[in-house]
Amino acid sequence: MTKKKYRLLFLSTPVGALGSGVGGGVELTLQNAAKALIAKGHEVEIVAPEGSVTDVAKLTQIAGNMQTSAQTQVGANMVVLPQNSVLENMWNYAREVQDQFDLLFNFAYDWLPLYLTPFFNCPIAHWISMSSLSPVMDAMVSKISKLFPDAIAVNTRACADTFSNGDRLMIMGKGIDLTQYNFVAKPEKPSLAWVGRISPEKGLEDAAEAAQTTGLALHVFGLIQDQGYWQQIKASFPNAEIHYEGFLSTDKLQQKLGQSSALLMTPRWVEAFGNAAIEAFACGVPVISYRSGGLTEIVRHGKTGFLVEMGSVLGLVEAIAQLDQIERLTCRQQVEAEYSLEVWGDRLEAWFEKLINPEV
Ligand code: UDP
Repeated sequence: MTKKKYRLLFLSTPVGALGSGVGGGVELTLQNAAKALIAKGHEVEIVAPEGSVTDVAKLTQIAGNMQTSAQTQVGANMVVLPQNSVLENMWNYAREVQDQFDLLFNFAYDWLPLYLTPFFNCPIAHWISMSSLSPVMDAMVSKISKLFPDAIAVNTRACADTFSNGDRLMIMGKGIDLTQYNFVAKPEKPSLAWVGRISPEKGLEDAAEAAQTTGLALHVFGLIQDQGYWQQIKASFPNAEIHYEGFLSTDKLQQKLGQSSALLMTPRWVEAFGNAAIEAFACGVPVISYRSGGLTEIVRHGKTGFLVEMGSVLGLVEAIAQLDQIERLTCRQQVEAEYSLEVWGDRLEAWFEKLINPEV
């Protein structure tokens, strides 16, 4: 029997244009999922807010006002949509074209697409990229996962466990395109890296303090989402050598990241996954992270990095002093074994098959 080729419509995050960095890790996740499935012969179209850029698949841009980021809505018990909402407009487009597709793949961390699931003829797969943040979203995840078992996926067990019915969620992991990252056996000089949106939940201040204590340069990569927070960090650690490198393309990011002795990941929230960790591994860079959330399922303590108690700058500093125990090649090997696009593509394909042909 010849294998079925699926027509897939991906709906990007409505918080910002694809390629802007506002969406954080979900932007890379969506594009890698498209690559993985196209490589298996499936057809992908991406729907994303106006101003988006991508070269991985056909792109349809939709106008409208952006959605407020869920991480600023912690504890919310109501849903807020702006007038002429891009999220509403994207899902209106999806409704109009749904008959041309076998499955819709939702990347919005939002109430509306979940709610719409029973109203569409076409099956919908939902990618929930962050941990539980608000009761209103948690309740809708719970409701839809009951009505549509297998329709909702998260990255890690740790992320699933933050939801009230987390046992109903699929654990799908991640994949990255390893051909985009060059392995660096030894950086030219010792330095630290920090990668992510510059926003309080990501905890950059702890990395800045560790840099100040060790005297190592800290290279910071990512979009400044909160200017006040960023200025405060620079003022609080005047003796830290902090270099802000900007928000870089994957290629430029990996070139510079590969030159780091370690990536510090210091999130203050339950990080659902942490794309930056596997990108660092792909360059041969060990990860020193807090022992929390998805990162505990990624970093192998003492082998590909170190896990330290959340908020412990001393822990970070002690781990930095032990970096010579880590073989950089082991980091690259872990990512090759666990996070390749091929393996992830197989998993996504099997998931979609279940949703498209539930009776089989
Ligand atoms: N990133 C990037 N360029 C940069 C800094 C970061 O493309 O200069 C991307 C990085 O590749 C990763 C994402 O930003 O995919 C951050 O994702 P992560 O899962 O680590 O955190 P999130 O922002 O989703 O909380």
